[in-house]
Amino acid sequence: MLLMQVVNRGCIRGVSTALRRSLRVYSQDSRKSVAYSGTHTMAKTVLIVYAHQSPTSFNSAAHKVAVEALKEQGCKVLVSDLYAMDFEASATAKDITGDLKNPENFQYGDETMAAWQEGRLTKEITEEQRKVEEAELIIFQFPLYWFSVPAIMKGWIDRVLSQGFAFSLQNMYDNGIFKDKKAVLSFTTGAMESMFMSDGINGDINIILWPLQNGVLHFCGFQVLEPQIFWSIAHTPPAVRIALLDAWRARLKGIWAEKPLSFASSALFDLSFQGGFRLTPEVKEKLSTAPYGITTGHHMGKPLPPHNQTKAENETATTVSDVQTS
Ligand SMILES: Cc1cc2nc3c(=O)[nH]c(=O)nc-3n(C[C@H](O)[C@H](O)[C@H](O)COP(=O)(O)OP(=O)(O)OC[C@H]3O[C@@H](n4cnc5c(N)ncnc54)[C@H](O)[C@@H]3O)c2cc1C
Repeated sequence: MLLMQVVNRGCIRGVSTALRRSLRVYSQDSRKSVAYSGTHTMAKTVLIVYAHQSPTSFNSAAHKVAVEALKEQGCKVLVSDLYAMDFEASATAKDITGDLKNPENFQYGDETMAAWQEGRLTKEITEEQRKVEEAELIIFQFPLYWFSVPAIMKGWIDRVLSQGFAFSLQNMYDNGIFKDKKAVLSFTTGAMESMFMSDGINGDINIILWPLQNGVLHFCGFQVLEPQIFWSIAHTPPAVRIALLDAWRARLKGIWAEKPLSFASSALFDLSFQGGFRLTPEVKEKLSTAPYGITTGHHMGKPLPPHNQTKAENETATTVSDVQTS
């Protein structure tokens, strides 16, 4: 059977090097394609968790660009259009079917973990969890609301990334359950970029991104890619907006090869209750002469490593890797 795929092989996996060499590459309609035969390959799956009320919004355009660009690569693209789904934002006992373990003192985390183990989470949640399991990349597309995600997307995070399914005390950060998956925040802002600089009125965007990128995504193990930020989109001229969408499309072509952002390795910490899950004395000693903290959060009272949550390559990367590998 002859199977056609686009040459950007990001979306073809399970293809051996030998087979890749035998791929026949040619151009067709200005798009490069490859033909191969005989071996089963699987398309990569991408989940776009999308939160905007309006199909005429820039966020809608950005999510549509991603769907098109990824499908062109041969990816399977799943979209969770949260407002269209009327996705429930509140984490409540309604998320659990059957009897609660402790109805007198309802604890959402404990109850949903038990329900997940016993297959008693509601369909709305299990369907999203199935999409997460299938996806190798998750794109979160949203307008920045109050320095964070809109409530409906926070509800998706609270309810879908439940204990047991997405994390446990044994499986967190770089030992996280989703360590083989990638995630990226793609969002628009009302404010312009300079307002999110360290001397801007809103403060440093790296600090604003830390809770979502470290506290949610890296905590669950995701390799977090550089955020795609569309600054002050409503005040951007139309031609520039179109160019920004083109740049997003171009980025998606190479997204599988991107280096993720730097986070502190779990190996740097004493992962015991006695040790308080804090940096080990040896690491602290080594860090004592470093010019910057390890990450935006692990700043150790030192200057923040510049661009830690916005750039995978930054001037402090050597310092971080020095500490992590020694
Ligand atoms: C509750 C709330 C909290 C907020 N908190 C913050 C905050 O903390 N920080 C902050 O900075 N901002 C904040 N904002 C502002 C918010 O982030 C912006 O309003 C939002 O990011 C704009 O994105 P949008 O998709 O809605 O833009 P839109 O207004 O939908 O789009 C911008 C422009 O792009 C045009 N457009 C649509 N499609 C295309 C296309 N295909 N090609 C070219 N142009 C196109 C639209 O017609 C429009 O002219 C907040 C807003 C709300 C409501």
